[in-house]
Amino acid sequence: MLTIEKNKSLAPYTTMKIGAAAEFFALVGSREDLSEAIAWARDHKKPLWVLGGGSNVLIAKKIKGLVIKNEIKGKEIIKQDKDYAFVEAKSGELWSKFVNFTVERGLSGLENLFLIYGTVGAAPIQNIGAYGVELKDSFYHLRAVDLKTGHEKIFARSDCRFGYRDSIFKRRLKNKYFIYSVTMRLKKSPAFNLGYAPLREKLQEKGLTHPEQRDIIDAIQEIRHSKLPNPVVLPNAGSFFKNAFISRAHFRELQKKYPTIPSWPEGRTKMKIPAGWLIEAVGLKGRKFGPVRMYEKQALILVHDGRADVKQVLALVRKVKAAVKRKFAIDLEEEVNII
Ligand SMILES: Cc1cc2nc3c(=O)[nH]c(=O)nc-3n(C[C@H](O)[C@H](O)[C@H](O)COP(=O)(O)OP(=O)(O)OC[C@H]3O[C@@H](n4cnc5c(N)ncnc54)[C@H](O)[C@@H]3O)c2cc1C
Repeated sequence: MLTIEKNKSLAPYTTMKIGAAAEFFALVGSREDLSEAIAWARDHKKPLWVLGGGSNVLIAKKIKGLVIKNEIKGKEIIKQDKDYAFVEAKSGELWSKFVNFTVERGLSGLENLFLIYGTVGAAPIQNIGAYGVELKDSFYHLRAVDLKTGHEKIFARSDCRFGYRDSIFKRRLKNKYFIYSVTMRLKKSPAFNLGYAPLREKLQEKGLTHPEQRDIIDAIQEIRHSKLPNPVVLPNAGSFFKNAFISRAHFRELQKKYPTIPSWPEGRTKMKIPAGWLIEAVGLKGRKFGPVRMYEKQALILVHDGRADVKQVLALVRKVKAAVKRKFAIDLEEEVNII
């Protein structure tokens, strides 16, 4: 039976380790628990909000209603053909454990997404991505439960409207569904994506001209450990801002003033500018504001020393956005969900 707690602090359930409480809170470990939670919310006329691993949220205000912490686990290969295996994971599985499960079976497609924090269920929400690969590249479908009616629905790849750190679940269907399971379509033979320069360089540095899957996993692990702060030591929620997309005309203007500005073409009309570069260029990389700062090894990540409060974090977020806007006329958008 579902245990519902009142006024539960959510800080320990997030990698930022700070933030407000939930009016009501329950751990959901099965499909039955989920149905019970939906019925409880309906009977008590309360909204429902889903929490996964808490690695992409800042809980700025008390959450009204019932917060359900997803603990529904399980993973298996559900079917195979000559070239592909279809692997399903329940949404409360840790993403990294899921990637391990696929790698141990020699299945290919998720190597570059190794060690991303959080749960399987949250991965499609922002179409997680790293080192030139996104979840959508090997996504097959997901099963989701309507938080009002309790009805299940299958979403194919095109239904999810995946974009850069984006999907329909961050827009029109925000907070409408509980993602229950995710199925990935993975190659049975090696199909590595080595398009990302720092990954290629790391492999070259190790003298690996024909890397095997284990080599890629090890290289990803080394790159991540050298660049990204461990939330247990320095609380953070990964990249706080998304990279920026600007028009080509805007880019040409900026390039005249800042010839070293890094960029990648995005379609025919836009240019992508790394937000980390913009933050460094306005002098905010590594600069301390009391207990908070943009991380010195990766300016996109907002870290604190364990003593910060939400106000101090939000003040730095505003400062970064204002400085980038003033200097480059670019509006940075938060990647972290501020609740
Ligand atoms: C050190 C660090 C490094 C990171 N590196 C990367 C990276 O390389 N690439 C990347 O893309 N991200 C990265 N992230 C961000 C984060 O790991 C991902 O966004 C992850 O998918 C969040 O998972 P979560 O379970 O913690 O989600 P949460 O933070 O718990 O939730 C995020 C959002 O998803 C919703 N949600 C969660 N589960 C469900 C569900 N089952 N059904 C419906 N809605 C749900 C929540 O309501 C919330 O709005 C990093 C984070 C950290 C701390």
